[in-house]
Amino acid sequence: MHPGTWTSSTGGIDPTAWLEKAKGGEASNQSQHDSDREHVSIDPGDGSAVAEIDDENWVETPSGVQGFDGNVPAIGPGDELPHPREFGVPAGEGGLRIDTKRGMRIAAAKFHHYINKAAGYGIGGVREDPYYPDHPGGFAIDIMIDHFETDGGQAHGTEIKDWFFAHRHELNIKYMIWQQTYIPAEGEANKMADRGNPNENHFNHVHITFHESPFANGDEPVYMVEDDAGDSTGYTVRGNGCGTHGGTHHDHELEPGSVPEEFVRWFQLGAQVCADVDAPLLAAHNRSRASRRALSAAQVL
Ligand SMILES: [Zn+2]
Repeated sequence: MHPGTWTSSTGGIDPTAWLEKAKGGEASNQSQHDSDREHVSIDPGDGSAVAEIDDENWVETPSGVQGFDGNVPAIGPGDELPHPREFGVPAGEGGLRIDTKRGMRIAAAKFHHYINKAAGYGIGGVREDPYYPDHPGGFAIDIMIDHFETDGGQAHGTEIKDWFFAHRHELNIKYMIWQQTYIPAEGEANKMADRGNPNENHFNHVHITFHESPFANGDEPVYMVEDDAGDSTGYTVRGNGCGTHGGTHHDHELEPGSVPEEFVRWFQLGAQVCADVDAPLLAAHNRSRASRRALSAAQVL
């Protein structure tokens, strides 16, 4: 599939309503021609429904930043970077290390148009985490992706990941996580274990952990990188233990209504990670997990 399309072959899920809901609107029976959120066309064709999103109209998430007027400053190579709020991106810099603060500001300046700007999203920094020191210690940021449920949103996250990976040395990056893949600055990337939802599996945000640097005091200037070329964007992903036996199950579809609508897309993405895992299997696994404990963002890295 190319970015901006989503296909259902079951007919059990209405992609129009789903897309509307995914974009923060109401899943209503309103005609798509009345919607100014995106252009959606439905092609019944051979029973499959295809919804196309106009990327140009994607960034309509209301800013969660009070007073943001929609005008963003122009930032060039080597320029001093303002606070993320200047780009309408909710973010807090308290407790961040200098290199982490720089990464946060660069993410806002360069990729604000890809970031979910709703209140409570934006770029996460310091927060409690009983399992990992990255966020409590001021080493890590979470770049929340707008419309991550779509292929286009996934492509935006990948673009952010690729850019930071290319600049990992000058930005003092230790590792990143995106699409259930742990990506160290050095060495092989590898698929991570399934944690059961798109947040914990990093399909809705790019996580970046920086090497240790001094705490930011709040007013030291940070700058955009000078050279946009960066280092190599390539890395290899180590096998994740998926066997090649058993064939593929990508044609298996979720039973309509078997998972919450907002998770359908994620189960489909998760099913692409390993040839031997399909969406219904993931959904069954998730129900099993959910029965043991409530899904929570507490363990998100
Ligand atoms: Zn994180």
